[in-house]
Amino acid sequence: MDQEKIGKFIAERRKLQTLTQMQLAERLGVSDRAVSKWERGKCMPDVSIMQELCRELGISVNDLLCGEVVSVENYNEKMEKNLMEMAEQKERADKMLLLLEIFVGVLCTVILVAASLVASYVQMEEWQRVLVVVVGMIPLLIAFPFLLKIEQTAGYYQCSACGHKYVPTFKAINLSMHMGRTRYMRCPNCGKKSWQKKVLRRD
Ligand SMILES: [Zn+2]
Repeated sequence: MDQEKIGKFIAERRKLQTLTQMQLAERLGVSDRAVSKWERGKCMPDVSIMQELCRELGISVNDLLCGEVVSVENYNEKMEKNLMEMAEQKERADKMLLLLEIFVGVLCTVILVAASLVASYVQMEEWQRVLVVVVGMIPLLIAFPFLLKIEQTAGYYQCSACGHKYVPTFKAINLSMHMGRTRYMRCPNCGKKSWQKKVLRRD
């Protein structure tokens, strides 16, 4: 997808609707800076507001992703290409998130181990030892919900009974046993409990 072309297209369609950046932003409930960023090709509109944006601009989502009004003949072909590119983008972003999860997890663990070592071997009062360990735990405690959120939303879990791939609820992630990224959960499709692997692709 050509972000710059899409940006120019958004600006062109916005002017055609005689809207200012501010007016368009207000209708979509975003800042005018966000609109300006899209139009300069700095970033893409979030998927969650794409439909609304397209309605305001009088175009289809497919048009938006192509950066032009797509003719009827090659509509399907272009739509498939866009869908594939979006799936690939999500896959790349998910991969980054999962790497970030490992990095943050390791970093927090190292801090905790370092604090424990200091508390064990450095000469100090008893209350100071407790304080050092407690402070050493803080990064992990803060990061933990975010790490779980990544576990939940990056990629999919695949049921080993029926092969169904899905994004589990945050609660299911919280309550399930796991070994690495593989989790013991109930499949929403077949209802069986099994060890489910994390996969990046849905199809
Ligand atoms: Zn299943």
